[in-house]
Amino acid sequence: MKADDRRLAIRMIYPIVKYGNPVLEKPAEPITEFGHQLKKLVEDMFESMYEAKGVGLAAPQIGISKRLAVIDISFKEDPNGKLVLANPEIIHAEGKQTQSEGCLSIPEFREPVARPNRVTVRAQDVHGKWFEKTGEELLARAFLHETDHLNGKLYLSHISALKRDLIKRKIRKLVKSGQW
Ligand SMILES: [Zn+2]
Repeated sequence: MKADDRRLAIRMIYPIVKYGNPVLEKPAEPITEFGHQLKKLVEDMFESMYEAKGVGLAAPQIGISKRLAVIDISFKEDPNGKLVLANPEIIHAEGKQTQSEGCLSIPEFREPVARPNRVTVRAQDVHGKWFEKTGEELLARAFLHETDHLNGKLYLSHISALKRDLIKRKIRKLVKSGQW
């Protein structure tokens, strides 16, 4: 075990930033360095995501305004299911699906959200290598949801104003009573 490996072995579980924090609603900065620090951040993001019982996590959700997201829709079942998206862009989207969607930064709320059903993302991996990947259904939804995060957008922007206002009102109440 080299010193670098040892450093990587120390995991950090980040607390998830909740709706209301401005970091969630501003566009994140591109990733430019693909070194040990990024590798550690990615591993910590996977651990933080699993700890929070999520299948996707974007860096702004741990307070880091960088264009980086991790996804594992298999939730540890598939060793090849771990996906790292650095500087992702949606390059193709088609079809339509409507499923209940939630967000780790908006806990306890879920709403049906209409999204494209088949989506191709172009992104860099943890080493900086560009790749393209196409996903359907839940994976397509994850690509869109996490890429939205990096553009400062939440799923709330895809639901009706009426439902959005209702959720915001409930959250304001939770904030007031110190439960958010
Ligand atoms: Zn989210």
